[in-house]
Amino acid sequence: MTQIKETLHQHVAQLAPELKTLSDFIYDHPELGHQEYKSSAAHVSLLEKHGFTVETPYVGFNTAFRATFDSGKPGPTIAYLSEYDALPSIGHGCGHNMLGTVDTGAGIALSKVISETGGRVIVLGTPAEETSGTKVDMANAGVFDDIDVAMCTHPSDANTVSGTSMAIHPIAFEFFGKPAHAAEAPEEGINALDAMLNLFNNINTSRQEMRPSARVHGIITHGGDAANIIPEYTRAEFYVRGLDTEYMNVLSEKIINCANAAAIASGCTLKHNDFENIYKDMVTNEQLSATYNANAAAVGIEMVAEKEGGNGSLDMGDVSHVVPSIHAYYSITNGKRVIGHTPEFRDATKTPFAYDMMEKVVESLACTGVDVLTNPELLDAIQAEFKQH
Ligand SMILES: [Zn+2]
Ligand SMILES: [Zn+2]
Repeated sequence: MTQIKETLHQHVAQLAPELKTLSDFIYDHPELGHQEYKSSAAHVSLLEKHGFTVETPYVGFNTAFRATFDSGKPGPTIAYLSEYDALPSIGHGCGHNMLGTVDTGAGIALSKVISETGGRVIVLGTPAEETSGTKVDMANAGVFDDIDVAMCTHPSDANTVSGTSMAIHPIAFEFFGKPAHAAEAPEEGINALDAMLNLFNNINTSRQEMRPSARVHGIITHGGDAANIIPEYTRAEFYVRGLDTEYMNVLSEKIINCANAAAIASGCTLKHNDFENIYKDMVTNEQLSATYNANAAAVGIEMVAEKEGGNGSLDMGDVSHVVPSIHAYYSITNGKRVIGHTPEFRDATKTPFAYDMMEKVVESLACTGVDVLTNPELLDAIQAEFKQH
C-alpha cells in the first residue's frame, strides 16, 4: 500500500515537466467552450503517449474525449474529469489550463501503478464547463454507468474541501406585442417592454418570500428597437438558483408565473425556454472526500471547510447525482485572496507555487484512486453513502 504510494510519488515527479508543458500550452492557446480543439488534442496526445486508449469525439462532442487505461485485472473504475475551456477576452481566467492538466495528470499517474491494484482508470475530457456544461449531457447519456467514482479538482485561492454547489435553471423569456407609432397611435400597440418591466417588478416583489439562499438574476438582451416605436419584441435571460434541485424547481415555477402575469397584464404573448443546461446541485460523497483530504494532508495540503454562502453552480452537480463524486479546490495563489475569472487568477497558474501545488494535487488524486482500487470496504462505504441520497 504505502509502497504503491511511494512509487506514485516518483511517477508524479517524473511527469511534472510534461504536465507543466501541457498547462502552459493551454494557457497560451485559450479556446472557448466547444472550440477547444488544440487543448483537447494536447490532452489526448499526452494520454496516448502514456498508453491510454482514446475515443474522441465523444458522445457527440468534437472536443470531448474518453481515455481509458485498463489493468486487465478485475477491479473498480476510477474517473478523473478534465476541463480546458477558457473565457472570452481574459483567456484562462478560471484556470482550466491547470485544472485539466491536474486531472489528466492524476489519470496518467494512477495508470503507472494500476497493474498492481487492478481495475481501470478513465480520464474524461469534458468541454464547455463555463457555458453549456457537457458533464450534464454526459450524465444523461449514461457515460458514468460503468464508473465507480468520479473526481475533479479546481484551482482556487484556498484548499477548500469538496462541498456543495447551487442548482441552476437558465430561463430565457420572450414577450411578443404589437408595434405602433409611439406618439401618433400608441393605443394601437401592445408594449412588450412593459411586459418585461413587469416581469422584473414581479420577480423583485416575490423576493420577500424566497429563501435567503435563493439567487434570481437576469438581464434584458433585447429591449426594443427605437424609442418612437412601441416595442413589439423583448427578451431576457435569467438564472434561477437554489441550494437543491427541488427548491430550484419551486422557484422556477414562481418565476415563470411572474412572466405569465406580466404577459396577461400587458396583453403580450410569452415564450420561455432553457437557454443552457439545467445544473443539479453538487452532492459531495463524504467518504470519498475524506479519503482525498487524507491524501492531500499526506502531501502537505491543509484542507479548509467550505465557506458559508457565495456558492456558484457546477456541471459536476449532475455527475454527483449519478456516481459518487468529489469536486475539491486547491490554492494556486500562495495565501493571497484572488477572485476567479480575473487576469490575476489566470496568471497565478504560471507561478512556481502553482506548479508545486499541481504536483501535490495530482499525487493526492492518484493516491485516492489507489485507496478506492485496493480497499473494497472503502468502496462499499462510498456506495452505501451514495445510495442513501
Ligand atoms: Zn469559471
Ligand atoms: Zn472553473
